Amino acid sequence: MLELNKIEEFAPLCLSCLGRAFGKVGFGLDNRERGLEILNQLEIKEGSNLQERLIAQEIDCSLCDGLISEISNFRDLVIDSFSDFSISSFKIGTVVDKDILSREIEFQLQFGENTGEALKSQLNREIGISVYKKLGIEAKMDNPDAVAIIDTGYDIVNLEIKSLFIEGNYNKYDRTVPQTRWPCHSCRGVGCAKCNNTGQLYPDSVQSLIAHPFTIESSCSEDLFHGMGREDIDAAMLGDGRPFVLELRMPKNRDLDLQKIGKKVNVDNKDRVQASELKFVPRSRVAELKNTVCDKTYRVDVSISDKISIESLKKGAQRLTSTVIEQRTPTRVSHRRADLVRPRLVNSVDVVSFVDGMAELVIRAQHGTYIRELVSGDDGRTVPSLASLIDAKCKVEVLDVLNLHLQEKEEKND
Ligand SMILES: [Zn+2]
Ligand SMILES: [Zn+2]
Repeated sequence: MLELNKIEEFAPLCLSCLGRAFGKVGFGLDNRERGLEILNQLEIKEGSNLQERLIAQEIDCSLCDGLISEISNFRDLVIDSFSDFSISSFKIGTVVDKDILSREIEFQLQFGENTGEALKSQLNREIGISVYKKLGIEAKMDNPDAVAIIDTGYDIVNLEIKSLFIEGNYNKYDRTVPQTRWPCHSCRGVGCAKCNNTGQLYPDSVQSLIAHPFTIESSCSEDLFHGMGREDIDAAMLGDGRPFVLELRMPKNRDLDLQKIGKKVNVDNKDRVQASELKFVPRSRVAELKNTVCDKTYRVDVSISDKISIESLKKGAQRLTSTVIEQRTPTRVSHRRADLVRPRLVNSVDVVSFVDGMAELVIRAQHGTYIRELVSGDDGRTVPSLASLIDAKCKVEVLDVLNLHLQEKEEKND
């Protein structure tokens, strides 16, 4: 199988490229040593000195086009690209010109299938080892902090830094902030006269208030906020709060003191937004959170414009308890949700007080129940409703989420 004339067709080769053609044969040698050994075997067979006929300096190799000679250069490019980031593990990838790759395949196929190691594999491994030796950070195939993809044709490193994911619960007491940033409709976030050049429809959001100190501490490029559902802008989120995952993209600093930053969030946003139970989580928590739903308990202030007695109000509330209602998608959300009739279980409706036409109710209902419409009836789109059962006009004036019943959570299905 070792035929001199076949090898000579591809000469001059560097020792690595010769050795790599047998990279999967034998252990304990690197490709250069393996190349030397093959050269020795060939010389014994042919009885002549072949070094000059076959072998070139790495920089003059016609197979790798000198890429093997550039390993220390690639290492330095990678180290330079890492310099702004605090990372503890990394992985190397390489982009190599396809003509080089196809020539290598052609060369290696002469010696049989599955005997050779790919050029990219040697580059990735040796650059990785070299970076490890200089920086002392771990080379890791599975889920490293940084992936450096070197475009060997242009000496460019494309760096991907793993996002940080921080889970917590938030409470919202300020009834003017949406959950996430809301780009201005007119300028789509660029900034215009309508939005005071902020690019935002609302100056603050739960996202912006919580993320602010995290983005500063981590020097990330942007933040994303993944909530487990959301409440209306004018609804408060009370009780144990609502689970969320804050994603910090391209963080320069990964070593965050979550308790300290969480405390800053809470001091800076007293009476507006609070965050608790902060911890680092894997990316998979985002999908889990997005796919989880649960019953919720609400506190609502309802104005009832027709004169009714507290007894008939209580009777109406009682009749809603343990009832499956049919809710057609309210017109206020029909632009973003399909127009469907959804059955929803109302677990309980309790009347806390009823004074001067204002009732305070505590309602527990299945996930996805539209509480405002459960109360008002939404012009017959929700059946039955509190309004239809007590035969009076009812309107939710204030709505708070009191509790998410996470211990009985379920998977989302619509
Ligand atoms: Zn070579
Ligand atoms: Zn604008």
